[in-house]
Amino acid sequence: MMEQLLCRGPETLGLPTDGVPALERYAALLDETNKVMNLTAITDPEEVATLHFLDSAALLTLADFRNKTVADVGTGAGFPGLPVRILEPSIRLTLLDALQKRITFLQGVCDDLGLDDVACVHGRAEEFAQAHRESFDLVTSRAVADLQLLSELCLPLVKPGGAFLAMKSVECGPELERASHAIELLGGRVERTADYQIPGTEVTHRLVIIKKVAQTPKKYPRAFAKIKKNPL
Ligand code: SAH
Repeated sequence: MMEQLLCRGPETLGLPTDGVPALERYAALLDETNKVMNLTAITDPEEVATLHFLDSAALLTLADFRNKTVADVGTGAGFPGLPVRILEPSIRLTLLDALQKRITFLQGVCDDLGLDDVACVHGRAEEFAQAHRESFDLVTSRAVADLQLLSELCLPLVKPGGAFLAMKSVECGPELERASHAIELLGGRVERTADYQIPGTEVTHRLVIIKKVAQTPKKYPRAFAKIKKNPL
C-alpha cells in the first residue's frame, strides 16, 4: 500500500520507490515494538501508512532536502525525520528526543536498516543547542509544542540561510500569529505556508516554512521552565 500511495496515480506523491522495502520494515518494527512500549497511539496499518509515513514523506514534495543536514526535534517514533531520510538518502539526519526509550527504538531501527549515518540522540532540544547551535540546514518538527515555544527549541539549531519546517494543522493561523514575535526575535521569518493533502485520505495539513534570516541571539534558547513560563 505504501508503494501505491508513494508513486502511482495523480493524487499520489510521485516519489521514487527504492525506499519502500525499508519503510515496510520500519512499519513492521514499529508495530511489533508498539505492543510492548508506547510509541504511537496510531496502530491501524492503513493509518500508520498514511498519517505517519505519507505525512512525513510529503515534506519531500514541499522543500528541497538533497544533501542537507537535518535535525528532527521531538521525533518520537521517528516522524517526520526517518521516512524522509529513507526516501532521500543524501540527507545527514539527527533524530532528537527527550525520551530515552524512543531513541533506543530508533537506534534499533537504524541498526536493522543499516542506516549508519543517522544520529539518534537522547536529549532536550534546548540543551542540545548549546553544543549544536546554528549547525543544521533544516530542522523539522511535528506535534511537539505550540509554535511560540517550539520556535525557541528549533530556530537556534538552524544555520542562517537554512529553514525550520514546522508541521501543523490547517487551523494554525492564530498559533502562527501568536508566535510571530518569537520567530522574529530568534532570527526567523515566515517564508510561506503550504497546505497538502495526505494521499489516500481526506486529511490536509499545513507546513510552515520559517527561514533563518539572522543569527539567534546567544541568550536563546533559555531553560525549558523559562521558555514555558515566559514565552517570547
Ligand atoms: N514527532 C513525532 C512525535 C510527537 S510526540 C510525531 O509527530 O509522531 C512529541 C515528542 O517530542 C515526544 O516524544 C517528546 O519526548 C518529545 N519532546 C518534547 N519536548 C522536547 C524537547 N524539548 N526536546 C526534545 N524532545 C522533546
